[in-house]
Amino acid sequence: MAGAAYRRTLLKVSGEALMGDAPYGIDTATVARIAQQIQAAQREGAEIAVVVGGGNIFRGSEAEAAGMDRATADYAGMLATVINALALQDALEKLGATVRTQTAIIVQQVAEPYIRRRAIRHLEKGRVVIFAGGTGNPYFSTDTAAVLRALEIEADVLVKATSVDGVYSADPKQDPAAEFIPELTFQDAIVRGLAVMDANAFGLCKENGLPIVVMNVNQPGAIARVLQGERVGTLVR
Ligand code: UDP
Repeated sequence: MAGAAYRRTLLKVSGEALMGDAPYGIDTATVARIAQQIQAAQREGAEIAVVVGGGNIFRGSEAEAAGMDRATADYAGMLATVINALALQDALEKLGATVRTQTAIIVQQVAEPYIRRRAIRHLEKGRVVIFAGGTGNPYFSTDTAAVLRALEIEADVLVKATSVDGVYSADPKQDPAAEFIPELTFQDAIVRGLAVMDANAFGLCKENGLPIVVMNVNQPGAIARVLQGERVGTLVR
């Protein structure tokens, strides 16, 4: 769409967002709803790349706490994101979207390896690109992967799809007095100790001036509205 506020977007979908109300794993109906939103936004003319998390299946830090070697656990976590990517790819294809999944860890039989210029070409051709495998390195998170890929593909914005409406003064799931914050600067977030995303990832956004929108992916049509420049969720810049 000519009037789109953001031409190219990196959407971060956490593993938890794919879980729906289930305690673990992938909820197919939830994934289908997210895919619908992505496709609707893309139909409006936005170029969309997605980084998927893996926390609904495996988290390195939790496995480490249970006694597993950290680096090995993190590799398992990265592979979990590949499973999520395949689920999202499938849901998007069922809607008629053209999708390419690229992984930071080579899984040649199921996805392309991450090649920056090729990813950009896919976007230019109107394909949805899913980046899986995080950064390919243990001790990092998929939030960091999302910022890294956003910068690499020169995205205009990083949209963090969550199950809350945006950034609050406290955790709204625990504190009923928590206040919604529609907009804040990177500096505000740091001074007020608001965890928008993990600290490494946040620092990378701040350093490079990459705006972040934190939004609720459970609101129908919300992704398209963000990309058209409507005030949805919290804008951090
Ligand atoms: N991970 C990693 N390096 C990365 C990205 C992810 O080691 O660059 C591992 C890490 O163990 C993490 C897991 O993959 O716990 C799943 O990713 P994350 O927790 O970021 O997923 P989300 O919270 O977004 O679902």
